[in-house]
Amino acid sequence: MATPLFGGIEAGGTKFVCAIGSRPDDIHDQTRFSTTTPDETIAKAIDFFKRQSQVPEAIGIGSFGPLDPERSSPTFGHITSTPKPGWSDTDFVGAIKAEFDVPVGFDTDVNAAALGEQRWGAAQGLATFVYLTIGTGIGGGAMVAGQLLHGMLHPEMGHVLIPHDRQRDPFEGVCPYHKDCFEGLAAGPAIEARWGRRGEELPADHPAWELEAHYVALGVMTIIMMLSPQRVILGGGVMQAAQLFPLVRRKVQQLLNGYIQTPQITKHIDEYILPPGLGGRAGVLGAIALAQRRGTS
Ligand code: ZN
Repeated sequence: MATPLFGGIEAGGTKFVCAIGSRPDDIHDQTRFSTTTPDETIAKAIDFFKRQSQVPEAIGIGSFGPLDPERSSPTFGHITSTPKPGWSDTDFVGAIKAEFDVPVGFDTDVNAAALGEQRWGAAQGLATFVYLTIGTGIGGGAMVAGQLLHGMLHPEMGHVLIPHDRQRDPFEGVCPYHKDCFEGLAAGPAIEARWGRRGEELPADHPAWELEAHYVALGVMTIIMMLSPQRVILGGGVMQAAQLFPLVRRKVQQLLNGYIQTPQITKHIDEYILPPGLGGRAGVLGAIALAQRRGTS
């Protein structure tokens, strides 16, 4: 009998990645395409799985949001009130279920990435940790005591408010809801709007990075105080700028100012705040991990 294969859909605001396989070194096929309208984009994902010679045992979807991950809710599986044009009230799970009679797992893109990191990446063996992505937006997924964290909805860690010193940084922020929340000050579009150039075009010694590290450290400090994660994984396009990691670690230590006296903070912060073990594949592999959990439960 063939090895069971699982489908993963990483549904991002700018691109979708679909894959079928069973683990990081056993991916049978993968594709990526731009996110356009819900009908067109979800149809491309369905086509990808229909082309495969083997039907997946289950499909996992890690999606941008806000979304409804609560199975007992009438709007479970929907992307709900997203500012992304055309996607509000999209029944994502329903559209997949209409084509495939298999279990479907559904969670935020960052919760999926967190699950993938726990299974195969930088959070193996941990029960409480955070995966934070800093890219086009900022989002955080959390596993707490072995469970992906949901609640009224799901965490929106990118929209916490962090101190904004307008003397140092007069930039007003880009969040359409809150202006200068964490995402409004520190996501990729904020860097571009503030400095007039995309982050990847700025040299490593540009003052943009010191300021960026300051904001990321403020966000990470908030998360450390709220959830006491055993590790904080920082992914996303902005964190591709590797010079940020040592800056963020040092600033987190400075901000905590000796208050948290654990070896993770005082001695081993290089292993406490670190990039995803799965690199840019954390999202789609996390979606496969969601499918596996759904398919076997
Ligand atoms: Zn905001």
